[in-house]
Amino acid sequence: MGVLAGRTALVTGGGRGIGRGIAERLGRDGARVAVHYGSNEAAADETVAAIEASGGSAFTIGVELGPPGDAQALWEAFDRQADGLDILVNNAAIGTSQPFGAIDEREYDRVFAVNVRAPHFITKYGASRLRDGGRVVNISSGLARNAVMPDKMAYAMTKSALDVFTRDLSKVLGPRGITVNSVAPGIIDTDVNADWLRADEAAWAGAAALSALGRVGTPADVADVVAFLVSDDGRWVTGAWLDATGGSLT
Ligand code: NAP
Repeated sequence: MGVLAGRTALVTGGGRGIGRGIAERLGRDGARVAVHYGSNEAAADETVAAIEASGGSAFTIGVELGPPGDAQALWEAFDRQADGLDILVNNAAIGTSQPFGAIDEREYDRVFAVNVRAPHFITKYGASRLRDGGRVVNISSGLARNAVMPDKMAYAMTKSALDVFTRDLSKVLGPRGITVNSVAPGIIDTDVNADWLRADEAAWAGAAALSALGRVGTPADVADVVAFLVSDDGRWVTGAWLDATGGSLT
């Protein structure tokens, strides 16, 4: 029996990339997993199928994050398929490469709505569903603490805001035995990076060289860190920012 048997997890953006890696890992560990997606239902269905193929249980929730009312819509969909929650992973996010001199208010608001407002209100409305002793994990970024890609400034700012949310929320939910942590990946091979990372060998080698370990990260590299935090072994870690960049910040 897996270490998360009997627990229910929700992973936002669980259909693809890092979210998929996390959803599959939590499913393998025995949790029933709600796989949230925005528009790519087929990818979320594939994640569910992969979890079921490994003996687990999962279902999908499709809600676009960003528009007002998104968090309530997500929980209404969740409540139709599950009763209570033990693990919330706020993973869904978008990037923006519009640099300081080019970004407009509309793009700025969009990236903050998806990356900051959505996890804030998903967690606010989800707190009543989270059982005592539960877990919240917010997926941050190494860019919150490193200016290696200054053109992604607005995106990096959303992740810094998310980290403050993690820190303060840990105090708010701590009395209920709920831990709250940020996990910060470095460069991971997912769709969001595909256009430049897989453009040529030099781009790949340059990204690999940023890591002390000399390679590009995988969704599983991040998922394994999340798996520790949400397990019983992670019970004494809260309010933390975990560097999951493969040594890119050292
Ligand atoms: P990804 O491959 O682009 O996947 C993003 C996921 O989020 C998808 O499942 C997508 O849903 C969902 N999503 C995005 N915008 C949404 C919206 N408006 N409404 C609902 N769902 C939405 O991204 P990733 O690389 O796996 O990144 C996952 C997390 O890790 C993000 O928080 C990201 O900031 C962080 N991160 C990534 C890297 C990296 O190098 N990849 C590095 C540091 C941090 P659909 O499938 O329906 O489109």
